[in-house]
Amino acid sequence: MTACGHIIFLGAPGAGKGTQAQVVAQRMLLPHVSTGDMLRASVGSGSEAGKRAKAIMESGALVGDDVILGIIAERLAHDDASGGVIFDGFPRTLVQAEGLDRLLESVGRLRVDHVLHIVLADEEIVSRLSGRRVCENCGAIYHVAFHPPMREGICDRCGSVLRQRDDDRPEVVRRRLAVYKSETEPLVSYYRNRAGYAEIDGSGDTAMVSARIAATLGIEG
Ligand SMILES: [Zn+2]
Repeated sequence: MTACGHIIFLGAPGAGKGTQAQVVAQRMLLPHVSTGDMLRASVGSGSEAGKRAKAIMESGALVGDDVILGIIAERLAHDDASGGVIFDGFPRTLVQAEGLDRLLESVGRLRVDHVLHIVLADEEIVSRLSGRRVCENCGAIYHVAFHPPMREGICDRCGSVLRQRDDDRPEVVRRRLAVYKSETEPLVSYYRNRAGYAEIDGSGDTAMVSARIAATLGIEG
């Protein structure tokens, strides 16, 4: 239905943004573009932008906006991106958001079509993330409430002991949320008054959130 789709997802860690971005990408047959994945792929490809990113990462510094934008520009030039892309984890800063607008304009495309901001209460995010347990042996992911293993603390697949990642401890999650908010608030202000900006209730399971997004985008749910 939507002819062209440049869609941005905003949302705190744990709000389900990555999962929903994948669902929409599959439904709309658009590439799912995650900056983290792309950064790794770009470094692997040995392109100019990739070489710059590699040098910066090896120096221990954060990859800057110009490098990220260079990688996005390369990705948008691929044939499969001509009908739009689903951005996941990008833009992360105001400079990146402004850069994306210039980039889309320069290749003769419309501006960003949709900005979907998945909103979930902090306490819900803390409970989602702090309940997560991972198997360090096989990578399986469980949740103490939503997807518990058959035997407490033991991986169903391989029998190894499950652990909580440091990143998922409640106090660390709260810190990550504070960082996320200070980073994202300028982005929300940047997009809020545009056509195509929508806040999506992130509560409930994946299917419920997907249905809300489908209704917002006017695609079949
Ligand atoms: Zn396992």
